[in-house]
Amino acid sequence: MTATRRTLIAGNWKMNGKSADGVALATSVGGKMKSAAGASFDMLVCPPFTLISKVGEAIKGSGVMLGGQDCHTNVSGAHTGDISAEMLKDMGCGAVIVGHSERRTDHKETDELVAAKASAAHAAGLIAVICIGETEAERDAGKTLDVNGSQVAGSVPAGSNAKNTVIAYEPVWAIGTGRTPTNDEVQEVHAFIRGELAKKVGANEAAAMRILYGGSMKPGNAKELIALADVDGGLIGGASLNADDFWAIGEASN
Ligand code: PEP
Repeated sequence: MTATRRTLIAGNWKMNGKSADGVALATSVGGKMKSAAGASFDMLVCPPFTLISKVGEAIKGSGVMLGGQDCHTNVSGAHTGDISAEMLKDMGCGAVIVGHSERRTDHKETDELVAAKASAAHAAGLIAVICIGETEAERDAGKTLDVNGSQVAGSVPAGSNAKNTVIAYEPVWAIGTGRTPTNDEVQEVHAFIRGELAKKVGANEAAAMRILYGGSMKPGNAKELIALADVDGGLIGGASLNADDFWAIGEASN
């Protein structure tokens, strides 16, 4: 964390939540943000597509940003089941997650596709939260930096800058497992990613671009992770489904 980059606490609800619990969660998070007036961090919630409208209503005026979990590369057309970045923007979203490891695995998304999705997000006026991260086998094989370097090279499109792009480093083996890398390991990868970003977007933009850590971030470990020099917040899955835990992670960044 550095004073020049504003901390972002982003919640990825994944395929969780029906109307009543989703609205209750969003209302609680929005209420906390509103009563904190002038919080020193930004907050983003990314509900499933089915809840975007209701969550948008629930957090209206609170300062919490609304986001999607994925978008198509096209603006519109014959793509059954898909949602475009423009549609998300139309629903009041300010951001969209692209390239989450679960989409890379479940839907065989490649770096090239992720970059195209990020470009579509930029064109729609959304912040692209681009996810990268190594698997456990890649880490064990000593390939962590190589994998993350090549994902930065392949998934961050031309036109990316510190205003329209956030990177989320999420070691795949840490997602939902309760395991995390050591603080030194996290800082090493984040600093490396920032260096690779500089090759793509220039040193100034790379220095200003937020790089979030994701993977079993919780109230109990958030403070030490977010305090690391190149960690600018978190992308949070499980703990974002509990308003008190999610808020506590935000407060841990103060
Ligand atoms: C995620 O899926 O982006 C994530 C970080 O999940 P969790 O916080 O549950 O590990």
